[in-house]
Amino acid sequence: MGTILSLAPQNVWKHFYSLTQIPRPSGHVEKITEFLVNFGKGLGLESFVDGVGNVIIRKPATPGMENRKSVILQAHMDMVPQKNNDTIHDFTKDPIETYIDGDWVKAKGTTLGADDGLGVATIMAVLESKGLKHGPLEALITKDEETGMSGAFGLKSDVLKGEILLNLDSEEEGKLYIGCAGGVDITALLDYKEEEVTADSVAMKITLKGLRGGHSGLEINEGRANANKLLARIIRDMLIDFDCQLSSFEGGNMRNAIPREAHAVLVFNASDTEGLEDFIKDYEFEIAAEYTPIESGISLRIEQVEMPATVIPEEIQDNLIDSLLACQNGVMRMIPIVPDTVETSSNLSIVKAGIGKVEVCILARSSCDTMKEFLANSLVSCFSMAGMKVIQSGEYSGWQPNVDSPILHAMKLSYKQQFGVEPAVEVIHAGLECGIIGATYPSLDMISFGPTLRSPHSPNERANIPSVAKFYDFVVATLEQIPLKK
Ligand SMILES: [Zn+2]
Repeated sequence: MGTILSLAPQNVWKHFYSLTQIPRPSGHVEKITEFLVNFGKGLGLESFVDGVGNVIIRKPATPGMENRKSVILQAHMDMVPQKNNDTIHDFTKDPIETYIDGDWVKAKGTTLGADDGLGVATIMAVLESKGLKHGPLEALITKDEETGMSGAFGLKSDVLKGEILLNLDSEEEGKLYIGCAGGVDITALLDYKEEEVTADSVAMKITLKGLRGGHSGLEINEGRANANKLLARIIRDMLIDFDCQLSSFEGGNMRNAIPREAHAVLVFNASDTEGLEDFIKDYEFEIAAEYTPIESGISLRIEQVEMPATVIPEEIQDNLIDSLLACQNGVMRMIPIVPDTVETSSNLSIVKAGIGKVEVCILARSSCDTMKEFLANSLVSCFSMAGMKVIQSGEYSGWQPNVDSPILHAMKLSYKQQFGVEPAVEVIHAGLECGIIGATYPSLDMISFGPTLRSPHSPNERANIPSVAKFYDFVVATLEQIPLKK
């Protein structure tokens, strides 16, 4: 079995390999920033970091192509750091270990970082190339896309010179994206006075794991289980069937990932634990049946643990569990005029309760700004009723599709010429940086596309090998056919 260095096109995979060797979780992009700037400078190209931390590299047109519109090739340098619980990996230090499995490149127990490492590697291949034909190029490699898009948000209106932006951060080869969802972070907070644990109690930890998780936008329509929702449901029934009280609840760790694991500690009256094992076993069976065949690895376990110091007062506990059950989660509405496309959704991503504090995080998305506002308000209502303070932050607009875009027409034609079929043209249910960059540069003509990835943002992330070659060929063909300057 070869390494990814043996894959074609070699000029893309070799750069992707280099990227796997450089730690680049969101929030820790110093090393990758330095690497990219040095890469550009090493090629003799104008390379710099803008005021917010994005890397910009400019490459002049090849001979005879000076009269083309200038193109911005855009990708993000950071990656989502997710790993399996039994994988030992420090995303700030360790390289990503990749392997080939049939037509796929995967990572050992961690996210692969093909989102968006393959976009960055493709840009590097184009910048390095000597034989390609292209007009003036500008690479824009943004920072921290996965945790709030601070690079795109901070990009000033006088940095870029290009007229066309090709965003290389979508995940289905053969599709051209012409619009995207906006989003808003909803955070519900509460401080409470802890309650002493009464004598004759026993503490139990309930652990729910083995869920598939995934991207909270792209995979929200697949009906996967949400660990926070499921655990809240289980605890609600447990509170009714047993004399017990919640001490802590913790689930999910990324706002834009469907939570895969959640656990809670409950304190039981020592004389009322009979039947607990069966309760858990029955519940596991029930959930497994409901989610077959979407989920196949759901595990629900209970074990006795050390007694926590305090529990959550009953009223707070009940309000919390009620609000978690009532909170909208999953697809709320499809786009009325675009078939099979999610318009509005929410992801109950992170729940942390215990030691006097409750925090609940939700990501609400919609390509329709007014529907996004309606969903956000309904989430505010839900958690306000539970007595929590609800904050909205990190709001960003969607990207309005333009079906008359010149680059869209050029790319549809070039795809058809090259592969014999029309590419699909879609609106993506995820926040692309196009929405934000487009707000700062309203005249940009934009398209987002990429090779085929599966399960990004999860340790099952994988990149389809044949699609990387098609994608690269299409990038090359597109650059050759960029419209003339007006
Ligand atoms: Zn991405």
